[in-house]
Amino acid sequence: MTSGRRLTAALAATALSLLAAPAVAGPADGRGAAPDALLSTRDVPEVVPPVLTAPERSASDRGDRGDRAPSARAYRRPLFAFWGAKYNRIDGFAFTTATRGSGTGIQVEAAWKTYRGVRPILPKVFVQARVDGGKWTKVAGTKGSIGKQYVAARVPAHVVPTGVAAQTVDYRLTTKKPTKGPRRARRSVSSKPVSVRFENPAAYTGDAARFYAPIAGLCPNASVTIDTTGLTGDRTGVFNWQHGIVIDAATLATLTAEPEVSKLGIAMHECAHMKQFYNWGGTRQTWDQLVARSAEVFVPDVNPDPAVPTIPMAPDWAPLEHAADCAKELISPERYRTYGGYCNPTESAAAGLLWQNQRY
Ligand SMILES: [Zn+2]
Repeated sequence: MTSGRRLTAALAATALSLLAAPAVAGPADGRGAAPDALLSTRDVPEVVPPVLTAPERSASDRGDRGDRAPSARAYRRPLFAFWGAKYNRIDGFAFTTATRGSGTGIQVEAAWKTYRGVRPILPKVFVQARVDGGKWTKVAGTKGSIGKQYVAARVPAHVVPTGVAAQTVDYRLTTKKPTKGPRRARRSVSSKPVSVRFENPAAYTGDAARFYAPIAGLCPNASVTIDTTGLTGDRTGVFNWQHGIVIDAATLATLTAEPEVSKLGIAMHECAHMKQFYNWGGTRQTWDQLVARSAEVFVPDVNPDPAVPTIPMAPDWAPLEHAADCAKELISPERYRTYGGYCNPTESAAAGLLWQNQRY
C-alpha cells in the first residue's frame, strides 16, 4: 500500500471510490500509471445516535397538573426533537454535504429523540429547503418517514435554473406542531440542515466540460469534479458517493500515449457506476442490493472464440466493475482500459439496461 493510497483511504472515509479501469491493454500498457486499487466500497463510519435511558415521565403522564418546579422543565421540552448535525445523513451516508448534478434528488435523514417515553407522540414531518442561504420554504410533496432512530425523507430533484452555474441547497426536516401532549411542549422543531451543491453541467468549462461531454446523453444529471484534492487517490477517476464523478485530469494529461477515446471512456465507466447507484435507488442500503445482484449476473469468463484472446482479468476484477466495463463497451468498444475478462451476451444485455435506467 502506497502512502498515497493510505491518504486516499483517509480522504475517502466518506466516499465510495469506484475505480476507473486499470490500463492493461493496448497502448495504455507500461506508461507508469499506478494500477487501480481494489474495488473499494469503504463506507462512512456508522454514527449511532444515543438512546435516551429512563425517559422522563412528566407530571401529565401521571395524571396530575404537575405544577411543581422539577417538572416545569420537562413541560417545555418538545415532544419530539432531532439529534444534532453529526447524525444527519445524505442518501444513507454519514456525510452532511454533497455535490450533485442539477436534476438529482437526495434522501435526507436526521436522528430523532423523544422525552415522552416508549410511546412517543409522533408528528408529521416534511422537508424545508433554502437556496443559496435564502428563506426556508417547504418542499412540496415531501413526507418524512419515522423509523426506529431516523426520520427519512426523499427530496425531489432540484433543477438549477438555466444560466446559473451552481446552487447550494440546504435541506432540513421539520415537524408539524403536534395537537396532543402538554400545551407548552407542542412545538414545531427542525433538524440541523444538510447541504448539497447542485452543479449545472451546461455551465462546465475546461476539463469538466471535456469529460461531461461524452456522458451528457447517458448521465445528464451527473456532476463532474476535476480532482484537485486527492479524491481519486492513485486512480484516474472515481464515482464517489459524496462528490459524484471525479476525474484526475492532471494525471491523465501526463499519459500522452493514451488516446483521448480511452480517457473519455473513464467518464463513461464512472457514469455506469452512477447508473448502478441511482437505478437501484440511490442510497447506502440499495447499494448493498446492487453489489449482491451484480455478483449474480456478472461472472468471470473468457471469450469462447479461441481466435480472440481474452484480456487477463485484473486482480481487482469484481462483478460491479465488470458491469461498468460492459456498459462502457456498449458505448465505446475500445478496451484500452478494462478490468479484463469478456462480456458475454447476457452480461452485455444486462449492462445495457443500465443505460435505460433499469436494474439488471
Ligand atoms: Zn469502476
